[in-house]
Amino acid sequence: MGDRVILGPYAPGTAVDAALDQRRSDVVMTVRESGLRGRGGAGFPTGTKWMLAAAAAGDEKYVICNADEGEPGTFKDRVLLQEYPDLVFDGMVTAGYAIGAKEGYVYLRAEYRYMLDALENVLEKMRSEGRLGNAIRGREDFDFDIHIHLGSGAYVCGEESALIESMEGRRGEPRIRPPFPVVAGYLNKPTVVNNVETFALVSRVMEHGADWFRGIGTEESAGLKLYSVSGDVQEPGVYELPMGITVNALLETVGGTDAAAVQIGGASGTMVTRREFDRKIAFEDIATGGSIIVFGPERNLLGVLENFLEFFAEESCGQCTPCRLGTMRLLEGVRDLQNGSVEPERIDALRNLADSMAISAKCGLGQSCNAPFGSILDAHLEGVAR
Ligand code: SF4
Repeated sequence: MGDRVILGPYAPGTAVDAALDQRRSDVVMTVRESGLRGRGGAGFPTGTKWMLAAAAAGDEKYVICNADEGEPGTFKDRVLLQEYPDLVFDGMVTAGYAIGAKEGYVYLRAEYRYMLDALENVLEKMRSEGRLGNAIRGREDFDFDIHIHLGSGAYVCGEESALIESMEGRRGEPRIRPPFPVVAGYLNKPTVVNNVETFALVSRVMEHGADWFRGIGTEESAGLKLYSVSGDVQEPGVYELPMGITVNALLETVGGTDAAAVQIGGASGTMVTRREFDRKIAFEDIATGGSIIVFGPERNLLGVLENFLEFFAEESCGQCTPCRLGTMRLLEGVRDLQNGSVEPERIDALRNLADSMAISAKCGLGQSCNAPFGSILDAHLEGVAR
């Protein structure tokens, strides 16, 4: 069995056939035993999410594929949707069977509109082959269909409750949680929201088994992972590697051994410098939804931080004050830093502001600003790059 198993050949329907050979509860158990954790970045155990949705009260349940891939530097879901749509859709059908849902939605980011016709064609083919629609594979007790919902280009809609608000026709603003979507999600019904890559991996777990998946990666971060690698490397692109690989090993693989710093997890992630290149890319060390941006020694890291903060200030939905004002204050601070007009006390105050946002902002956008702010500032002050 080859290592490149997410991005390897896949016979459409294989995962669903394997799932339908099992009881619904056993499918949930298989996903739990695999150790698969959500690949959007947060790493919540997929099987546990499915178990909660399956156990939630009500006959009407939903499955949503979060294809709002908007984290700067991330482009691996695009590759999965373009080249392996059956793998993703079969993972959604498997989820529908496991939790007892009849409908699934792909929330497709606005910038991926160009894929819409091709994806609709795949869904139509699945319907014509009895892999989607009523009585899937002749099973009278299992109806499930998938629809595609186009986003409108807001980064915050990658947050699952904002995504659901958007699907329901409102502004894409995060909800107060709990209740979590597994209990009260789309249309207030129990809903499983998983990332594109997570559904693709579900299909591979059903195909090859929980033990196979658990045997790859680390104890806390099982399986394979897709990494979108960009920046100062010889071979940028999408790489499929085990969870738990060190930054050094990844840089060797992609031709980036001259790197001065690596931003792991996109704009909302953490920057590591050479002295930390032996750290693991895994949920227990440095987590990422897939974005790896490599910076050589000639890069202006404060310019990078300014760029990220401009993005956050632009994409903040404005609902809560710590994020709405905090992103602007951090951005002003970094601009002043670049002009050389900042006292040490001001730097401390900016760090404190970023840290306070981590506990006071309402959703991940505002909460995660402290990771890039603190780590990129540290890297700049270390003098690892220009
Ligand atoms: Fe909106 Fe930012 Fe508050 Fe999230 S943290 S709810 S994006 S203002």
